[in-house]
Amino acid sequence: MQLVANVYGYLWDGYENNCNSYLIVDDITVLIDPGHTRFTERLVAKLAADGWRPQDIDCVINTHAHLDHCEGNGRFLHDDTVIAAMHPADVQYYHEEGAQLLRALGQEPPPLLLGGFLQDEVRLGKTRWQVIPTPGHTPGSVCLYWPEGKVLIAGDTLFERAIGRTDLPGGDARQLRESLRRLASLDVEYLLPGHNDILRGRERVQENFALIQQAFFPLLG
Ligand SMILES: [Zn+2]
Repeated sequence: MQLVANVYGYLWDGYENNCNSYLIVDDITVLIDPGHTRFTERLVAKLAADGWRPQDIDCVINTHAHLDHCEGNGRFLHDDTVIAAMHPADVQYYHEEGAQLLRALGQEPPPLLLGGFLQDEVRLGKTRWQVIPTPGHTPGSVCLYWPEGKVLIAGDTLFERAIGRTDLPGGDARQLRESLRRLASLDVEYLLPGHNDILRGRERVQENFALIQQAFFPLLG
């Protein structure tokens, strides 16, 4: 589904947990957060409905290292030139606290299929996206912001009427509060979160920030 200009959204609509995915089409085409491996064929079908094939994707970006966002990377790494990238702090997190958490749940962490680390900015051709570190949900969580399009891809930091959980290993409530403050200062018309619905319209986005400040900031240390 085309959301705005060159940004497409594939919102998760199943009963089990999985993330929303987004596609940015430019000289370089980027898939944000492919989700769980077991659901990638559903994403492939949704991409196909808009005319996109896995081989059209040049790069995969993960907003953070939780498996419901990054496990399915491999499905889209169709040749050696395609890389997946996330913030270096979450690569470390994945191999340390993240791996401990999975093992505690009786699951061996799958290999993290990554080819690069995110820098401050992602240049895709005509569009440049700021990579905004937003620790709190995980140490290396990031949001992607396109100032000209006023689009914010928020990962699991910010949702409609909700915020990212901080009770998992690597979570930090105070850091999340600072990250949310940083996001609230941006000019955003399209809030594209990692789960649940998207928010359109500057006023609705600002109302959402106000609600979150009121409802959640007192709980965040
Ligand atoms: Zn998460």
